[in-house]
Amino acid sequence: MSADVYPKRLKILNLDYDLVWVNRDIETATDSHGSCDTSTQTIVVCRDQKPTAMADTIWHEINHALFAGLHMTGELTEERIVTLMTTGQCTVMRDNPDFVKWMLKKLNGGTR
Ligand SMILES: [Zn+2]
Repeated sequence: MSADVYPKRLKILNLDYDLVWVNRDIETATDSHGSCDTSTQTIVVCRDQKPTAMADTIWHEINHALFAGLHMTGELTEERIVTLMTTGQCTVMRDNPDFVKWMLKKLNGGTR
């Protein structure tokens, strides 16, 4: 997966998420740079961002998918939240090695 390719699928826990890339219009429509629909397993990301911001947005949406997939609630303690998110994030990184490489390129300012 080169730095210029936009990933299309992610394994998040036991589910396959589709990644949908959109232009800036989504920001006007939703006032956000991305969204995560856990009922359809779809993550939408605005591609009109600098690479580091794009990486931040995707990871943010992955965390929403993990929050749902791990059946988390706002009632959990900080330690429980950190424990569950750590497990989820490690699993996402293990199951998506090409995506991790792509993320690192973006976080280092790689091409859009
Ligand atoms: Zn959010």
